[in-house]
Amino acid sequence: MQSLMMDLPLQLKSVLWRAENLYGHKEIITRRGDQFESCTFRDFGRRVRRLSNALAEIGIRHGDRVGTLAWNTQEHLEAYFAVPCMGAVLHTINSRLSPEQIGYIITHADDTVLLVSPDQVPVLIELRDHLNGVKAVVQLSGEAPEWSLPIPLYSYEDLIADASEEYEYPDLDENTAAGMCYTSGTTGAPKGVVYSHRSTVLHALMLCLHGTIGVDEAERYLLVTPMSHVNSWGMPYACLLQGATVVLPGEHPIGSDYLDIIEQTRATVFVGAVTVGMIMRRELEDNPTAFDISSLHTMWLGGQAPPVSEMRWWKKQFGVSIAQAWGMTEASPVLTFSSLTTANRDRDEEERFQVLARQGLPLPLVEIKLVDDHGNEQPWDGNSPGEIYVRSPWVISEYYDDIRSRDSFAGGWFRTGDIGTITSDGYVEVVDRAKDLIKSGGEWISSVALENALIGHPGIQEASVVAAPDPKWIERPVAFVVQRHHVTTDELRTYLKERFPSFWVPERFEFVSSLPKTSVGKFDKKLLRSQFV
Ligand code: AMP
Repeated sequence: MQSLMMDLPLQLKSVLWRAENLYGHKEIITRRGDQFESCTFRDFGRRVRRLSNALAEIGIRHGDRVGTLAWNTQEHLEAYFAVPCMGAVLHTINSRLSPEQIGYIITHADDTVLLVSPDQVPVLIELRDHLNGVKAVVQLSGEAPEWSLPIPLYSYEDLIADASEEYEYPDLDENTAAGMCYTSGTTGAPKGVVYSHRSTVLHALMLCLHGTIGVDEAERYLLVTPMSHVNSWGMPYACLLQGATVVLPGEHPIGSDYLDIIEQTRATVFVGAVTVGMIMRRELEDNPTAFDISSLHTMWLGGQAPPVSEMRWWKKQFGVSIAQAWGMTEASPVLTFSSLTTANRDRDEEERFQVLARQGLPLPLVEIKLVDDHGNEQPWDGNSPGEIYVRSPWVISEYYDDIRSRDSFAGGWFRTGDIGTITSDGYVEVVDRAKDLIKSGGEWISSVALENALIGHPGIQEASVVAAPDPKWIERPVAFVVQRHHVTTDELRTYLKERFPSFWVPERFEFVSSLPKTSVGKFDKKLLRSQFV
């Protein structure tokens, strides 16, 4: 028997409708140099429809890909709605990738129009050979410069200036593609992930639940996670759905800018990479009274595990709680969120930190299991590691037009490539990326656990641990550390020996002035391995 419920598709136009009709007075604030510009959701909706009309005018049709190479700004956010609501596909491109990778991605996704920040215009000139399918380029801010390519280059404001504010968005099949994002693997070309209206709406709804970041109308969210990376963790859609104030850091922000933005806009929740949180901490340690960040109460840090020492520091110094989620481009991205069940809420503060240092509980509608090297499912005992397999309506079923898809799936489950354990009460702990786990004399060593301990040492600012080939043990850990003040190898070895089995403790420590970061702001272990080891 079929139900008699309305078969109303899940679509992003419903998010926009709600933002405009319930929260028309709420604001999107963008940093423009040392100024801030604000736009109400009501005016935002009008500009979104003008952009859809302008894109239709320059030839964008249902299913066409519109690429963006852009910072977190209001105009980029307008594209987040204008493109998918008209039935086209928003393809966000990470501008920190190499020109070759960007060229590959534009060609592979078959982008028809590109929306770019001014600093990306020279990149496109360099990539001229990859732009054969591109019909137009739109510069998102400032006047479009003279340029030499045989493709029209428009300035955004000129393009939408005369466009109509009316656009009757079509009813789409909820499985219509809404967005695309490429994940840059450690080997080979980047792989494309295609999100649907359905997956994006469900993921946004999930971000509004308690037990997750719980997006709330009363809060002011500073979204630092790049809008070019997994839809800025889905937060723009969740914020508009719930009528929460959105604060965007604009073009070329640096560490002190984030603190200044918090002071100026009274942001209450910061969302960004663990490494950005560390940069802000350094800034505050150097200038403890330079910024008033009293409005801030929570930082959602992700991309890698936030060390407990960071959680302690932020709580003690500024009363700020750190939350983390675990996820990936292929999962829209969030799969687990660190929250405290009632049984854990009554523990003392230090024990609560230890619980929150785990990656958290699987979200509603996320199914999860652990599988060992022989394909056997592992128990949830907090001790038995396995590769984490997941299923969810917001996890991919295959990569876009890529034969490498088949390696990543098994029996309808997505193989995350992360090794973890799960406690009997459902807390997931990511031990390591499968490829970063160190195998020494037949025993596993977690690079993540060593790094987090090292970052907790008062003399260490940043740490990354990678495997080096070893004639006797096959692999041994090597630690790359940035010092806060002078420490010796012996001191660090003694410190680690108090916390780990002695065979975990690296013989070799490399003291460096900074650690390389990937295009999405994580410590770049691949580069460390190739450059130093
Ligand atoms: P990306 O697709 O670039 O977002 O990278 C996803 C990968 O980042 C995951 O597979 C994990 O290895 C890692 N990751 C993301 N969030 C966390 C977290 N909270 N703790 C540990 N690792 C994480």
